[in-house]
Amino acid sequence: MHRPHGRIGAPDRPVHQPSSGWIKAQLDRLPQRLRFIPGSFVPLYDVPHLIQHGDHLPRAPQIIEGAIHVGGPPDRLEDRILRWLRAMAQDHLATQARQHASRLDVELGRVRVRDTISRWGSCTAAGDLSFNWRLVLAPPLIGDYVAAHEVAHRLHMDHSPHFWAVVDRLVPHRHEARLWLRQNGEALMRMGPPPG
Ligand SMILES: [Zn+2]
Repeated sequence: MHRPHGRIGAPDRPVHQPSSGWIKAQLDRLPQRLRFIPGSFVPLYDVPHLIQHGDHLPRAPQIIEGAIHVGGPPDRLEDRILRWLRAMAQDHLATQARQHASRLDVELGRVRVRDTISRWGSCTAAGDLSFNWRLVLAPPLIGDYVAAHEVAHRLHMDHSPHFWAVVDRLVPHRHEARLWLRQNGEALMRMGPPPG
C-alpha cells in the first residue's frame, strides 16, 4: 500500500493517529484563520476574490468581476461558500483525474473531495480517488499534480522510481508542485472553516 505523502507539518508527525485532534485544535486556535465572511478574500485558484454579501443577491455564490457575490442569511453564508468551493473542487479534480487516467489507459472508481488535514489526495486499491477540496485555493498546477499523482498509483501503489516516472509523463512540474505544497499547505489549512 502506498505511504502518505503531502503531509502537513513535520514529516514524522503522526497525523493519522488520534493525536490529529490535538493538531486540529492547534490549527483552530491560530489567529490567522481566514474565515469565508463578507470582506474576506478567497484565493480561488490562487487569485484573491472578495466576498460580497447582499440581501438582494441569489443564495448560490456567483463570480462577478473577480468577486464572489452571495445572498441569503448571513449566518449560513460560510457554509454556502464552502459547499460551492467543494463542488468546484470536485468538478475540476475529477475532470483532471479522468483525463490523466485516459492517458494512462487505467480505470478509476469514484472520485470525490474530502476535508482532511493529513492528505492532499489518496487512491485505494479499487481505484477510488479522494482529494482535498482546499486544492481549489491553490494554483491550478497544484491540483493537476495531485490528480496525476493519485492516478499514477493505478499503475504503481508505491513511491518507487517507476511511479515517479509515470507522474513525470503526466505533468512536467511535480518538483515545483511538491515544493509549493510544503511551503503553503499549512496556510491553506487556515482558510475557511477548520478542517474536520
Ligand atoms: Zn502517493
